[in-house]
Amino acid sequence: MSNALTDYSLCALRDALDRREVLAVDVAQAYLDRVSAHDPVIRAYLTVDAEGALQRASEIDSNRAAGGPLGPLAGVPIALKDIFLTKGLRTTCASRILEHFVPPYDATVVTRLREAGAVILGKLNMDEFAMGSSTENSAFQQTKNPWDTTRTPGGSSGGSSAALAAQLCAGTLGTDTGGSIRQPAALCGVVGLKPTYGRVSRFGVIAFASSLDQVGPMGWTVRDAAALHEVIAGFDPQDSTSSDRPVPTGHSRTPVGGRLDGVRVGVPTEYFPETGLTPDVRLKVTEAIGKLRALGAEIVPVSLPHSPYAVATYYVIATAEASSNLARFDGVRYGHRAKADDLLSLYLRSRGEGFGMEVKRRIMLGTFALSAGYYDAYYGKAGQIQTLIRRDFEQAFERCDVIATPTSPSTAFRLGERTEDPMQMYLADIFTISCNLAGLPGLSLPCGFDADGLPIGLQLLGRAFDESMLFRVGCAFEDSTDHHVRRPPSLQTGGVVTGQEAQS
Ligand code: GLN
Repeated sequence: MSNALTDYSLCALRDALDRREVLAVDVAQAYLDRVSAHDPVIRAYLTVDAEGALQRASEIDSNRAAGGPLGPLAGVPIALKDIFLTKGLRTTCASRILEHFVPPYDATVVTRLREAGAVILGKLNMDEFAMGSSTENSAFQQTKNPWDTTRTPGGSSGGSSAALAAQLCAGTLGTDTGGSIRQPAALCGVVGLKPTYGRVSRFGVIAFASSLDQVGPMGWTVRDAAALHEVIAGFDPQDSTSSDRPVPTGHSRTPVGGRLDGVRVGVPTEYFPETGLTPDVRLKVTEAIGKLRALGAEIVPVSLPHSPYAVATYYVIATAEASSNLARFDGVRYGHRAKADDLLSLYLRSRGEGFGMEVKRRIMLGTFALSAGYYDAYYGKAGQIQTLIRRDFEQAFERCDVIATPTSPSTAFRLGERTEDPMQMYLADIFTISCNLAGLPGLSLPCGFDADGLPIGLQLLGRAFDESMLFRVGCAFEDSTDHHVRRPPSLQTGGVVTGQEAQS
């Protein structure tokens, strides 16, 4: 089988476009054709912008032919979780309340992607307002895991992870409030990075829990994620929490075969519990840690003793902030407006009709946690535990440079299996949430497959603003394994080309 244009990783494609071996318009068309062929089953896309994508791609080709200035992602096809505002292109957040919403401006990350020359193919499915772990809370459609279409692609960025695994885009952005980039990446066998809080602008990103939300890249490889991170990260005066720390660059061009001598990898006992972790996940993550040792890293046991409280703490803080953030959807300014005779019923009906079950549940939980007489017992207490969780990490990072854990306690679960039991669904994020509460960067990358052939993710957590360490360890691991180039057999064409083959 020969390679199709949709077989090139983001970095390989960038380089092929640079060398003028391929045209952006042919690449965009190849992706649009593949979306037409496979998305009726996978259902990752909520909106496909064929016309916009082809027009942008031909502009890039003309610029290149004329020797004009080109950005670092010139001609690379990207799709976006439908939480990012895109000027003139419908943005729903997978909610009825925004079903027909067309934003008047772009999110900062979208502006940066456009300036870098990325070609935006369309908008991807997600859990409504990013609340969920399976993408089953979308108001519109059920995205399938390309590795097994009876299973979830994870969530809330499940459209993004499914689109990558099915090769329906070369790269994508997600958001991660409690694991929504890393968990779907793990469940679909792709790479996802949640950057440090403040690293990437949240301007124009529909807010869920503002103190935890972070935008991050997802790609086929660590280098692909690094290439996207480099473009989207950095100070933005429009986001008061954005940091002006210098952004690490060059990681997408890391030479093949790096060693990890001198790197200390912490392994927290709390992330390998006796029960609640499937045997295959335990085995493959343990093997991956062995691989890091073989690459020269020193493995050190560490402890994060407040981990058992993370899920409870998260569900107080995240719901409290969500209840406040979602107050703006009132049927008056934008979004769904119900027919009503007076103002109060306008509010009640618009919200009643516009929000789905899980969103309503979160608004009620959050409003309760913040209500007079309960604030100290819930929100105040959660804040104190958050401090202890942060401190756990500070102490652990005195003894190590990076922490390695499973991303998810299990591989992709079956669609419908957890929808009736919110607690079971909330536990899907048991290993990803602490990182958000502590504001740290976290990377998930493929580290093997279970007995059913479903992907398993290795999570690497770093010190604040040390995404470089995650890229370094991630690239070294990836270069010595082949999990990241495997694809769902039924969807495969010619085999993934990363551009690293020739050198390794
Ligand atoms: N699954 C978690 C939740 O439902 C995290 C979601 C996210 O990171 N956006 O809240």
